[in-house]
Amino acid sequence: MKIGIYPGTFDPITNGHIDIIKRAVLLFDDVIVAVTTNSAKTPLFSIEERIEMIKDSTRKIKNVDVDSFHGLLVDYVSKKEATAVIRGLRATSDFEFEFQMALINRKLSNNLVTVFLMPHEKYTYLNSSIVKEVATFEGDVSCFVPENVNSKLIDKLKTAC
Ligand code: ADP
Repeated sequence: MKIGIYPGTFDPITNGHIDIIKRAVLLFDDVIVAVTTNSAKTPLFSIEERIEMIKDSTRKIKNVDVDSFHGLLVDYVSKKEATAVIRGLRATSDFEFEFQMALINRKLSNNLVTVFLMPHEKYTYLNSSIVKEVATFEGDVSCFVPENVNSKLIDKLKTAC
């Protein structure tokens, strides 16, 4: 059983993340989308809200599970007995950070394999921060995120005002 873990902040999940998940399920028997905290980011959505949005938007994709974890990715990977960690590479700008993370994780756990997947080029400029930025100013982000995420964003930003 090949398990792939796709870790990230997913605040919120975008069509770029979904593109990576769809590619990952072709390589693994089970893909776990693992929501985690990132000390460098202040999230808009709680972990529970993020999990719910991911579950809703991946319902039609087979062999996807959604979970969350705190602490080191290497510990989570070994707990799940996963084969590899999946990360998305949008552009060369992602490379340096992803390269550093993959090497640090391999230093912490020699067996850890990181697999990089490239999304369709139409998603290479997309990230959760830009989606939140546009939505904050009531811009239309419906072509960047699944429908359920679009309505959650509108609700969230309304209540934040
Ligand atoms: P993190 O805070 O760990 O970077 P993100 O939720 O921003 O978490 O992203 C999780 C993973 O998904 C990262 O590997 C990131 O490069 C990738 N990713 C984010 N947006 C896209 C996108 N538009 N296309 C492909 N991969 C993406």
